[in-house]
Amino acid sequence: MVCRNLARRHADAATHGDCAQCGTAIDYLAPANGTSRRLTPVSKRLCDECRHRSASLYMSADALRRRDGGNCHLCGLLVPATAQKPHPLAPEVDHVLPISRGGTHDPENLALAHKTCNIAKGGRPATWRRDPAEVAPMLAEWNRDGLTEPPKTCSVADCERRPESHGMCQKHRRRVVKYGTTELPQHPTHCTADHCDKPARSRGMCRSHYRKHLIGDKRCAVADCSKQVHTRQLCRRHYQRFLDNRPG
Ligand SMILES: [Zn+2]
Ligand SMILES: [Zn+2]
Ligand SMILES: [Zn+2]
Ligand SMILES: [Zn+2]
Ligand SMILES: [Zn+2]
Repeated sequence: MVCRNLARRHADAATHGDCAQCGTAIDYLAPANGTSRRLTPVSKRLCDECRHRSASLYMSADALRRRDGGNCHLCGLLVPATAQKPHPLAPEVDHVLPISRGGTHDPENLALAHKTCNIAKGGRPATWRRDPAEVAPMLAEWNRDGLTEPPKTCSVADCERRPESHGMCQKHRRRVVKYGTTELPQHPTHCTADHCDKPARSRGMCRSHYRKHLIGDKRCAVADCSKQVHTRQLCRRHYQRFLDNRPG
């Protein structure tokens, strides 16, 4: 009894075969593009030449827009040039005959589509069309919001940096993640301990109050000494004695 995966691997033990497009003999064991050719279905294993050719023929959404105009070939409505992923109206390259049905990356098999329409189509046949009534409300919303141009600068007032994520530059986005606001937290200028007006040094406390905060209420480790810890779990006097007695 052999499990199905193992059986499939045995069936795929061939180390050589023909290019699915031109018939040239190819070595299945030689990796293509860094990945094993054997991960690709036999019907799609190509020689290097055919692989490069199909890759260079692959057209971008921008190229399709120039070729076919700016409308989605699935719903027939406009694909806003400035819509960007992950917006559902963003331009995407649709494979007219889906790859899963044997379609290729050839330009004749590519067409411009909304991201949402491309997703809705999935692996459906080449003749499938989307009801424009499903897309029209999204397009109306897009136009109403006046989002014809993506913002060129960070959404924080007076920040001229390029938006990286959530409409904010990297610096402001990091602040939101870290502090929950685009402002840096306000550090107090004076010690927050009661009855202390010294300038704040660390965590809103003056040097001596911060030290107390760090040490807490710890007492000297020497038996019978109840003085407050100064350094290394010892009070000032016992620490000095420790230093004096240190060899060397
Ligand atoms: Zn070939
Ligand atoms: Zn569409
Ligand atoms: Zn910014
Ligand atoms: Zn203080
Ligand atoms: Zn002590």
